[in-house]
Amino acid sequence: MFSVDVGPQYEGETVRKEDFQIEFGGPKHKFKAELVTVKPAADVEDEKVEIIGKDIKDFEEGASVPIFIKILVAGEQLEKDMEPVFERRVHMYINYIEGFWHMAQRDEIWMRLHKDSFKKGLNSLDEIGRVLVMLYKNELSIIEKIQITFITDPALVEKEVLEARKTYKERDDRLKGITEEEVDEFYGCSLCQSFAPTHVCVVTPERVSLCGAINWFDGRAAYKMDPEGPQFAVKKGDLIDPEKFIYSGVNAIVAEKSLGANSVFCLHSALETPHTSCGCFQAICFYIPEVDAFGVVHRDYLGEAVNGQKFSGIAGEASGGRQNEGMLGMAISYMRSKKFLKTDGGLKRIVWLPKSIKEQVKDVLEEAGLYDKIATEEDVKNVDELTEYMNRVGHPWVTG
Ligand code: SF4
Ligand code: ZN
Repeated sequence: MFSVDVGPQYEGETVRKEDFQIEFGGPKHKFKAELVTVKPAADVEDEKVEIIGKDIKDFEEGASVPIFIKILVAGEQLEKDMEPVFERRVHMYINYIEGFWHMAQRDEIWMRLHKDSFKKGLNSLDEIGRVLVMLYKNELSIIEKIQITFITDPALVEKEVLEARKTYKERDDRLKGITEEEVDEFYGCSLCQSFAPTHVCVVTPERVSLCGAINWFDGRAAYKMDPEGPQFAVKKGDLIDPEKFIYSGVNAIVAEKSLGANSVFCLHSALETPHTSCGCFQAICFYIPEVDAFGVVHRDYLGEAVNGQKFSGIAGEASGGRQNEGMLGMAISYMRSKKFLKTDGGLKRIVWLPKSIKEQVKDVLEEAGLYDKIATEEDVKNVDELTEYMNRVGHPWVTG
């Protein structure tokens, strides 16, 4: 039925740059995304897979192309709230395909097809679509109809991505104003244990998952829809340490799901027993010892961060499901949370950001009086220059 094997045994494989036949999305492309939308049954043509633009076989070996994956689903019991939950399954299911690798989420996706699988006959996105149709329908019985479109035409990809970003923002905005204190339950996700076996994501109303794809509402919707699935409820339990945001219920579930590898999570610290990081983080918060403060660097930033390391290097150290003191995988929108790194000093301990993140969260930085205090790659090239910059502009972390 398919030219390659499909199953969870392939989930942990990666495809290196020497080995790919084709690459979709990733840091080379400004526009790429995946989006799942719930539609009325009449608007979904069941099991239709369509490709708009060139297909895998039309490209040269080693090509890197933008992509937009548009999935429409319908079903009697489907709710709008479930869209992000279905969307996160793209990551899981595509990784089931032998020699096909999927990374990240939303408008940051990155996929590669291994040459060996291409040689076995996997030469069309149509086949990827058919695998997805099969898995969605088999694994999530509430989905009654599904239609998948792959777009590789660059102009159309751009148009769709700009539209999709509005949806991502609406999803994130729903959480505004809800605090950890006023809910009884957090949610967790262990979807990434195939890559990082001891990794557990804990998602609270004030802490979106590090991939940015699962917020508290999404965790709740996912758990409601599929209690046996990768997202689960986390009973908060007691707040053991109010400064470090250590909850007994969080610790218990982290210990259980990491098989004892980790047993304490400080929910809002990058320094002390921090949250683990798998590999899907949108960004990484990293400690800069010379200034005793933090920088944040994101996946699409290709230059060197202020500490002289590239994202890929920092990511290598931060990933794998370990607790790395001084490094925290995070979603960019976590910076909008009132609890962002609260234990460590919050936003005012951020001293360096790539220009593009700075612009993305400009409103919160301005509100905190930090917009003109935080250096970017345009202001400083290394830690010496950073120190000088912080003194010159009077960064609050220096002036106290
Ligand atoms: Fe789930 Fe976390 Fe992986 Fe996102 S990063 S899919 S929330 S385990
Ligand atoms: Zn992950």
